[in-house]
Amino acid sequence: MEQRELVVVGAGPGGYVAALKAAQLGISCTLVERAEVGGTCLNRGCVPTKSVLHSAEIFAQAKEAALFGVRIPEASVDFSAVRDRAQEVVGRIRDGVESLLAANGIELVRGEARIAPGPLVKVTCQDGDERVFSAHDVVIATGSEPALPPIQGLDGPRVMTSDGMLSDVPCVGSLVVIGGGVIGVEFASAYADFGAAVTVLEALPRLLPTLDRELGQSLALALKKRGCTVCTNALVREVRNETDGAVVVYESKGEVREVRADAILVATGRRCDVASLCADGLELACEQGRIVVDGQLRTSVPHVYAIGDIAAGGLQLAHVASAQGIAAVSAIANVPCEIDLACVPSCVYSNPEISSVGMSEAEAKESGIEVQVGKYLMTGNGKTVIAGMDRGFIKVVARADDGVVVGAQLLCGRATDLVGELALAIARGMTADEAASVIRAHPTFEEGVGEALEAVFGCAVHSLPKARKAVSR
Ligand code: NAD
Repeated sequence: MEQRELVVVGAGPGGYVAALKAAQLGISCTLVERAEVGGTCLNRGCVPTKSVLHSAEIFAQAKEAALFGVRIPEASVDFSAVRDRAQEVVGRIRDGVESLLAANGIELVRGEARIAPGPLVKVTCQDGDERVFSAHDVVIATGSEPALPPIQGLDGPRVMTSDGMLSDVPCVGSLVVIGGGVIGVEFASAYADFGAAVTVLEALPRLLPTLDRELGQSLALALKKRGCTVCTNALVREVRNETDGAVVVYESKGEVREVRADAILVATGRRCDVASLCADGLELACEQGRIVVDGQLRTSVPHVYAIGDIAAGGLQLAHVASAQGIAAVSAIANVPCEIDLACVPSCVYSNPEISSVGMSEAEAKESGIEVQVGKYLMTGNGKTVIAGMDRGFIKVVARADDGVVVGAQLLCGRATDLVGELALAIARGMTADEAASVIRAHPTFEEGVGEALEAVFGCAVHSLPKARKAVSR
């Protein structure tokens, strides 16, 4: 039995950030990982997906290059090079994280961990050794994996999850995406830009159903414009695997329909595996398959914390896991954590990009909050015109009585980079006036944020004026 101050299980963006924070706070930390450092986000999620999307964006731009006065006679996609590029990016970032862990004196144990009462952490190491750590505190950060719904035929050779799409980056002429959530629309967007015939089947009435209605609807229009077929209210019933392709059978508006494709991506959510983490009768209170935690990420078992996808309640996002890792370790070290865990930006790296933070207008109304919405159409934004982007908007939702910003939704160039300043405004309780009161450089996409903030009170300079009363002098 080896004594440790802190054992963190899982080295994804939750676990490795928790370990680094522990080192900063002077807590000696052992980090256990059964696969690669960086977890899903770095190895099979956010990072390689964004690399593939970046390749798709470059190809889409190359096809449009003549519009900008650049002649590219024949642009084509080398899918194995797209995959190699994604793997190279992943490798570089992973090396960086491993160096950071080593430089901070964090002990990295490679193996499969199970947690037992004590708390004890029992590790079956990759070299076959069994090690048992008795820890003062344990942080569980084991993430999630793609969930396959109970649909017949999903075991066929042409059916993939995001894991398979990223390890292969297959060259396909046609792709059916089951699920119009974040993963589904990101792959649909990339493959539409690569020139594949893409069909998205979403069971609910719109794409990205958890976000503001206008975001999913506008994205559907943008995808359709690039040749995608988007079917909402489409519930997939079965996949038939045939020699020359797979056929997806779905139900829509009371009719049974079929669509054939070279490959099928299943993107219908992710699941957590709590059961195989618990040994010797350890029982962690769970809710819908995820571990119940309090505001300081404490589970029902003393000295055991859970963060990231496996912790119930939070959004399953890498940056949430990292923030929770910092909050959990701060609680362990008994120091205050200044991060506002309630204000979480969500980003979708589709073309066009989408981001959202705080409340939508509909959510504010449901909560009985009267709001004013400032909306700026990015067609009036210089950088948007320069980049040749046609659709886009930024919406800011502010409380009607005092002007405090409570939400924002963006669909425009670099939306994923712009959402940060609106998240800051929300987390710090700023009014739209206060958030608008800095000079934004010209020409930038960011100017649109300023305009949307000003539009809350009808004062956006680059929007057509609403009917004004004559001002007498
Ligand atoms: P999701 O829950 O976001 O979306 C799944 C979609 O599939 C839902 O809209 C659901 O209605 C639909 N669906 C379910 N069963 C269906 C069926 N039988 N037929 C048709 N549609 C069906 O899940 P996801 O897209 O797999 O993403 C998983 C998690 O990973 C999410 O929490 C997401 O936020 C996170 N993620 C985030 C990013 C990012 O931040 N950019 C990227 C990838 C994943």
